[in-house]
Amino acid sequence: MVRAGVFPSSPLRHHHSFSTRTLHLFHDLFCRCPRLSIQPYIKALCDVQGFPFRPYLMHQFSSAYDAYLEVKARVRKLVAQALHRDSPDWRITHACSCCQYELEEDSSLDIRMMVAMDGNDSLKRVADSGVIERLDPRQAGGDYFLSRAAVNEWAEENWKNATPWIPGNSFREWVWKTGRCEEKWHNASDKNTGKSWAKFDENGIFLLICRHGLVLSLADMVKLGERAKYSLATMHHFLEAERRRRISNGEDGPPRGKLCFAYDVGCTNSKTVQCSPLASLAEYMGYLPAVGTMHGYAHERACQLNFLLLYLTGACHAGLEDGETCKQYFSKSNALASATRHASVFHRRQMITEYTYHTDNFEMYGNLSKFLRNHYKQALEILSTAESLKVRMRKAGIEDARIIFQWLEEEAAYLQNLSKEPLAETLQMEYYGRLVALKECQAVLKEARHAWLSYRPGEQDYTAALERTQRHAQENDFGRINKQNR
Ligand SMILES: [Zn+2]
Ligand SMILES: [Zn+2]
Repeated sequence: MVRAGVFPSSPLRHHHSFSTRTLHLFHDLFCRCPRLSIQPYIKALCDVQGFPFRPYLMHQFSSAYDAYLEVKARVRKLVAQALHRDSPDWRITHACSCCQYELEEDSSLDIRMMVAMDGNDSLKRVADSGVIERLDPRQAGGDYFLSRAAVNEWAEENWKNATPWIPGNSFREWVWKTGRCEEKWHNASDKNTGKSWAKFDENGIFLLICRHGLVLSLADMVKLGERAKYSLATMHHFLEAERRRRISNGEDGPPRGKLCFAYDVGCTNSKTVQCSPLASLAEYMGYLPAVGTMHGYAHERACQLNFLLLYLTGACHAGLEDGETCKQYFSKSNALASATRHASVFHRRQMITEYTYHTDNFEMYGNLSKFLRNHYKQALEILSTAESLKVRMRKAGIEDARIIFQWLEEEAAYLQNLSKEPLAETLQMEYYGRLVALKECQAVLKEARHAWLSYRPGEQDYTAALERTQRHAQENDFGRINKQNR
C-alpha cells in the first residue's frame, strides 16, 4: 500500500520507504542527465544525511522507484483516457503536430512527411554468462517498443516466397541489380551482426523518428539476427497505424503526397521492402526511399541519382533537411549507455522509455516553435539569394532551372549505358590530377627557396633542414614533370 508521499521498498512488510519528492527528483535528474544511475544518487543522499552508504539501499531505492514509475504510468493512462487518447495507435499517429496534423485547407505537398530510421548499438545489454537471470514477468516499453515477436514476424525466412513488387523505374531496378552498396556498407550486411555482438543480449535499438526529432517507433536489436527485419517491423508499425487512422477518419484512397523514409542504407533497404509483404502497404502509403545527405556521398553515383535526398523534389528544402535526425537523437541518447549496459531486460527498457517520453514531451515538443522559426529564417535567407542565383545562372548560360533535372536524367542514362570508362576521359582525369599535384609541389619548392634566401646570420642555423626540404621538393617537382613527359 502506498502511503501519502512515501513509497515503500517492499510490497508487504514495510520497514523502509522513500519520499515521493526523493523519487521524483531522481526521475527528473535522470531524464535531463541520463548518465546518472541510482548508485551515485543514493551515495549523494547518504552524504547529505551524514549516513554511511550501504549497497542494499540501492536495491531498496530501485524497488520503490519501480513502484513510483508504475503509478506514474497509470496516471498517464488515466489522463489519456479522459482526453480520449488511449487507443493503441493514438501516440504513433499523433506524435508530431507539424508532421501529422493536416488541415483541409492545406495545399498538398510533394512529400507530406519525412521520417528517418537507423539502428544504434550504444544501448547494448551485456549477457551475464554463467548467471541465470531471475524471470521477470514485467513488461516495459509502453507503446514505443515493438515486442520481439512482432519484429521476428518480419524475418526473411517468414516471407522469402512473397511476390516482389517492382516499381516502374528501370534505372532503379538497374541500380538494385548492379549496385555494390550492399558489399560496401556494413550496416546493410548481416555478416558482422552475430559475431561481434555475441556477448550482448540486446545489441542496441532501432529507431523510427520524424524529421522534428519525435520518436515514432522503437525496437530492440537482439543477437544473431538480420538487420532488415527491424526496419521492416518499425515501418510496418507506423504505416499500418497511419492506414488504420485514415480508415477510421473515413478518408478514401491513398494519401496525398509521398512519405519519405531517410536511412543511411536506404538503397538496399528499399530493395528489401519491395521484395517483402510490406510492398503493397508501402506503395499505398506513398513510400519514398532516400539516403541522407551526410551518408549519401559515400554511395555510388548511380545510387545517389536514385536515392540522395538532395535530388528528391520537395525533400531537401534547399539544403535545410539532411535526413540525419537519428544521428542527432543518438548523440544525446548514447548517454544512457552506462546505465543500461548492466541493467536487467525490464530496467533497460524502462530507462529508455522514460528518457524517450521525457525527450518527446518536454524537449522536442517544446523546441518545435524554435525549430520552425529557425528554419523559416534560414529559408528567407536562401530566398533572398534568388536574384543573384538567377544572374549567375544566366552568366553560365542556364535559362531554366528545370534543365538541372534533365542533366540528372542524362547522367543516369549515361551511367546505365556505360560498360567501361572511355579512355579519353580517364586520361583527362589523370592529367588533371597530376597538374594539381604539380602545383602543390611547386608551392612547397617556392616556400623552401624563400626560407633559404631569407636566412640571416646570427639566427639559429636551420641550413641542413632547409636544404633537405628544398632537395625533396625539387625531386618531387622533377618527378612529376618527368612522369607527364613520358
Ligand atoms: Zn547506395
Ligand atoms: Zn515531425
